[in-house]
Amino acid sequence: MTSPLISTDNLHVHYGSIHALKGVTFQVNQGEIVSLIGANGAGKTTTLRALSGLIPSTGKIYFQEQDLSKVPTFKRVGLGIAQSPEGRGVFPLMSVEENLEMGAYSRKDKVEIKRDRDMCLELFPRLKERLWQMAGTMSGGEQQMLAISRALMSRPKILLLDEPSLGLAPLIVAQIFDIVKKLNQDGMTILLVEQNARMALKISHRAYVLETGKIVMQDSGSNLLNNDEVRKSYLGV
Ligand code: ATP
Repeated sequence: MTSPLISTDNLHVHYGSIHALKGVTFQVNQGEIVSLIGANGAGKTTTLRALSGLIPSTGKIYFQEQDLSKVPTFKRVGLGIAQSPEGRGVFPLMSVEENLEMGAYSRKDKVEIKRDRDMCLELFPRLKERLWQMAGTMSGGEQQMLAISRALMSRPKILLLDEPSLGLAPLIVAQIFDIVKKLNQDGMTILLVEQNARMALKISHRAYVLETGKIVMQDSGSNLLNNDEVRKSYLGV
């Protein structure tokens, strides 16, 4: 059996009186693209934030079999968990170049950092053209590309992508998904949170469906694309 890169066991998150995650158990294996799909407020973002350590949770999170309970966020980045947040979250007053530098803040291997920076600019030529532009003045699609690149600059073992298609034109969405697929083909493990369930399922090896803080279904991407319930609830057909 494949051993998971990251997994949770009975994960719970509370925001005050709101019980946002109610015992979520799932795993992402090395080399997979796994999606979490579900309606607004189902708990997708909360799951990613718990994995990154940005919010407190109970239950277990394991990364390469290491219990992360007592590992703070910055150390989780060092272990190889990087998140590209919803709404992009780039530093708006910094240039593309500076945002990329920030992504590598925990690293000291200058030569390798330069290599990863060049790899990002090759992956997203638009960023190369805008190297000294302030991130906040770029288009939504460009900011999304930068957010993904910044996450890649920590040289992660798993990339957590929160809603990479949010608010973007269909053509740009297609480009972003192509790059996500390519990253995975080059060996990156990816956990993808998406409202655009169709696009997500198309590129995912496996996916979980979240409903009000609980996983209600899990299967391969292709089986879920053909599942009547999923089609009615999340694909609008
Ligand atoms: P969306 O696509 O809208 O981001 P989601 O599936 O990612 O949806 P979450 O953002 O994880 O859902 O939200 C899960 C639940 O937790 C929702 O009921 C939401 O209202 C609540 N919630 C999320 N963030 C907070 C917060 N900071 N304070 C209070 N409640 C929150």
